[in-house]
Amino acid sequence: MLTSGGDAPGMNAVVRAVVRTAIGAGAAVYTVQEGLQGLVDGGDRIRRVEWGSVSSIQHRGGTVIGTARSAAFRTREGRLTAAANLVGHGIDRLVVVGGDGSLTGTDVFRSEWPGLLAELAETGRIDSGAPERHRHLVIAGVVGSIDNDMVGTDMTVGADTALHRIIEAIDALSSTAASHQRSFVVEVMGRHCGYLALMSAIAGGADYVLIPENPPAEGWEDEMCERVRAGRAAGRRDTIVIVAEGATDRDGNPLTSQGVRDVLADRLGEDVRVTILGHVQRGGAPSAYDRWMSTLVGHAAALEVVNAGPEHEPQLIGVEHNRVHRTPLMEAVAKTREVPRLIEAGDYAAAMAARGPSFTQMVEVFEGIARADQEAPSGGARIAVVHGGGLAPGMNTAVRAAVRVGHSLGHTMLGVTGSFQGLIDGQVEELAWGDVDGWVGMGGAELGTRRKTLRVEQYYALSRAVENHGIDGVLVVGGHRAYESLLAMHAERDRYPALGIPALGLPVTIDNNLPGWETSIGADTALNEIVTAVDRLKQSAMASQRAFVVEVMGRYCGYLALMGGLATGAERVYLNEDGVRLAELSQDVAHMRASFKAGRRLHLAIRNEHASEGYTTDVLCRLFAEESGGAYDVRPMVLGHLQQGGNPSPFDRVHATRLAAYGVRWLSDQIAAGRQDWSFIAARDGELTSEPIRLMADLTDMTFQRPREQWWLGLKPIMAALATEPEV
Ligand code: ADP
Repeated sequence: MLTSGGDAPGMNAVVRAVVRTAIGAGAAVYTVQEGLQGLVDGGDRIRRVEWGSVSSIQHRGGTVIGTARSAAFRTREGRLTAAANLVGHGIDRLVVVGGDGSLTGTDVFRSEWPGLLAELAETGRIDSGAPERHRHLVIAGVVGSIDNDMVGTDMTVGADTALHRIIEAIDALSSTAASHQRSFVVEVMGRHCGYLALMSAIAGGADYVLIPENPPAEGWEDEMCERVRAGRAAGRRDTIVIVAEGATDRDGNPLTSQGVRDVLADRLGEDVRVTILGHVQRGGAPSAYDRWMSTLVGHAAALEVVNAGPEHEPQLIGVEHNRVHRTPLMEAVAKTREVPRLIEAGDYAAAMAARGPSFTQMVEVFEGIARADQEAPSGGARIAVVHGGGLAPGMNTAVRAAVRVGHSLGHTMLGVTGSFQGLIDGQVEELAWGDVDGWVGMGGAELGTRRKTLRVEQYYALSRAVENHGIDGVLVVGGHRAYESLLAMHAERDRYPALGIPALGLPVTIDNNLPGWETSIGADTALNEIVTAVDRLKQSAMASQRAFVVEVMGRYCGYLALMGGLATGAERVYLNEDGVRLAELSQDVAHMRASFKAGRRLHLAIRNEHASEGYTTDVLCRLFAEESGGAYDVRPMVLGHLQQGGNPSPFDRVHATRLAAYGVRWLSDQIAAGRQDWSFIAARDGELTSEPIRLMADLTDMTFQRPREQWWLGLKPIMAALATEPEV
């Protein structure tokens, strides 16, 4: 296994998953230091590794096995030596994490392999039987690249972390910019790919964005300045323009951050600063997503090469809609390399199309929210936004996007404070474009939320309130209780004519326990909070032999516990879905004692808050301590409300914005068509759609308030495979 090309955060999680999965499958596993160059160098650059060699690396940025660019590997002579080095160790299966360059190089190597081995045998550099023993080189590729520029996977390893770094910077810049009413031009990485620029513009609440695939039309300078002026007039205090490093105009002339700065400074006559983020974007601890997603693909890539037969076609192992997705490697590379050519040739429509439909959609969504000066059609409706259920990061982001998209469609947008009870109490206010400025990255819920659902006796008052405020449609942004309220009211609504308006549920809850949508908004932020807290915890324990039982939220849904376990490299997770049994706890204790005695320093268990009624976190800790035999001590760690707080992660901001834009358009269409559906947002093959609210009763286990089908439970075997060293 090797990492090559530009480093990317998350590569270590791939290394860990590949090494452990392959060992678990009975393979002898080697890592190659310094990428493809290490293959050429051989010697101690190619190292046999054990289960423990990859302990505690998942949280580290970069790649612990090193990476390099290699001129030697570009030559046949270099690859000949590389082949000799591999055969010397009996290696004929390779997992490579890198960019399109590394993957191409590896595939060239694979196609030459039989010829290289024949030559090596002829010249006596390897024994004559080796070409027969190693007839094929089997390879699998994983894309490590912060740019998210590869066709064939939704996300590349490192892109989500890079977005985290960019958003941290933009949040910091926005606060200082707002204090001085200043403008910043921020340059982000992406020579041919506008992913980071576009998503950071959405998640960072920028005014304008320039990306390589979609150069601005002639006269963009006027448009940009007009937009900035209109935003200021509507109450914005800061201006942020994002420029991808490879941005050009429609004639292919580079648009530099300095050039954009000059335009703004000249025309607006104000202080404009440039920030070029540079290598900061590559650095730092990987995000929660880059840990669990990289673990999934690493696991799959190892199985791919271990199980491959002689006719194996090289595969790219990526993800599609949160599932591992395989694509023929060179087909993906060829399609990826086509995009810069399309941009070069000025075929921007094709370049955008190559990025996939949701990329184009996000460009439209951004345009819908960034412009305060849109000519909205008149005669709009009155659409209310209300929260329900527990607090979750992303609620403000969703309201902001809903309000702005609503305005762009000509609607009057109403914010309801204090959930449904607030509506009854008349806490309803018009929200203007500028009222939600700065909400994109704010944790908490400015409108407030409540877990309590309304009683049937209150429905009449609710319907009167809807009538009094002339509400034509409602966007309900929240968690299980919000959906439950919709379901209960829907059953009664024929008795209240005023409730004959469309309503749509938008999933925002850290628990990820709603039907229709696989990763509710807020869950990614909570996972990142968990990962950050556990990173600290692990460091604190390094001096002793200690077991931690970390209790995470999620109500009866184990999503945060399992994904937290995958992302932090926990040894054990306890879920309500599985229950907790004494026999298993006995096994856990035996395992803990043995492994601590063998030198382990840390045992990490993650327990869902409702994993078991009797075996509470406290009981588990006492049990583990009582049975430790002095081999280790035990500490509980209840993360608590930390998980609900915090500013929304980039992923949660982007998706909150996307879903809110969809939601308001959906309501708008319903109102225009005279329909009164009550639904919730869902996905079908990755496309946004809606499902009728009455389906919730079929799709949900109402006792445990979680979906009957939970996709992520399918990841449990990966958790188990990576946590415990198989007995040899
Ligand atoms: P990335 O993998 O991030 O795209 P590069 O394009 O620099 O990074 O490629 C990394 C390394 O892969 C190169 O230094 C080189 O050793 C090898 N490589 C790239 N393209 C080829 C090729 N066509 N043939 C052989 N080796 C290649």
